[in-house]
Amino acid sequence: MTFQVPPPSSCGLLLSYQCSSRCRHCMYACSPAWQTWASEADIDNLLGQLCVHTQYLDHLFISGGEPMLKPELTAYTVARALDLGLPLDYVETNAFWCWDEEKAISGFELLRSAGLERVSISISPFHAEFIPLINTEIAMDTAQQVFGADGVMLHSADYFKELHSMDVDDTIEFEHYLEKKGVDQAAISFAGNYDLIPNGRASVALANLYQRRPASSYFGESCIKELGNPHHVNIDHQGNYITRMCTGIVLGSALNLSELFKKKDWSDRPLIQHLLTGGVEALYKWAISSFNYTEDIMGYTSKCHLCLDIRRHLVHTGVDLVELNPKSFYDELEHVDFLNVDFD
Ligand code: SF4
Repeated sequence: MTFQVPPPSSCGLLLSYQCSSRCRHCMYACSPAWQTWASEADIDNLLGQLCVHTQYLDHLFISGGEPMLKPELTAYTVARALDLGLPLDYVETNAFWCWDEEKAISGFELLRSAGLERVSISISPFHAEFIPLINTEIAMDTAQQVFGADGVMLHSADYFKELHSMDVDDTIEFEHYLEKKGVDQAAISFAGNYDLIPNGRASVALANLYQRRPASSYFGESCIKELGNPHHVNIDHQGNYITRMCTGIVLGSALNLSELFKKKDWSDRPLIQHLLTGGVEALYKWAISSFNYTEDIMGYTSKCHLCLDIRRHLVHTGVDLVELNPKSFYDELEHVDFLNVDFD
């Protein structure tokens, strides 16, 4: 079949997958173990490519991993994006580095002096396992001093309020949070209010929070909508072009976007071709007949959970497909702790 990847309407530039934390919900499976970052030359190349395809792009953000592990590089990226006239919206940070006011002010001022007008500060029960809530408070206060009230987003403000009301000041273990909130309520809130995406580490670590069903429950639907979604695509530091839902599946290289956005036949990327034509059902049947995949008797929480389980099996068994990248994404998923929970 032929399929055309549409140019993005909103796009995140991931400077690295390295992060100060190893959050359980992270669909990119970021952690301190990742080592590689974009160089300034990589950033110039990637932004230069995006510049040629801005016809629908109204929203660019800089993310990771944690971009403020390398504040100078993040400031460089801000300045380059603005020089090139790209619609830069915000830099996303988890605020791990905001342990005192002076440090926080100087980090935000560095970004402001590069031309940035807005930051997004991430906070959730997942982040709060690693980052003391006091850091988030310092980040909010100081970011407002530097960017003004309209220049600071908190994602999410509801979780910030809730953690505050639980008298959390330092970090809080995720299991402890579940105990306080109630497992069912927490699971509903992650899926409903927080827009938890069941891919990457979330799919593996949080599987026990949700009901599991057999693989056949997810049959009968192609993934063309998700693989062709131009909203919130991600370009990583290696130039991998990945749509929002489908971490671990590379559609092509962001270093050659004109090529990527051409209508083409996908027979050279068989895994993607199966997903486009027959969704997880086609992927499942192909994996069973060609690669000895066996269904997990525990079941799956979503079609993306099933898809990821099959992809992990392919990587384990040494199937080398260019679309199964980055490889470290799959390596990182080997070290995920399962959550043991008693439902309410
Ligand atoms: S099942 Fe796979 S291809 Fe389909 S939306 Fe989920 S991750 Fe993407």
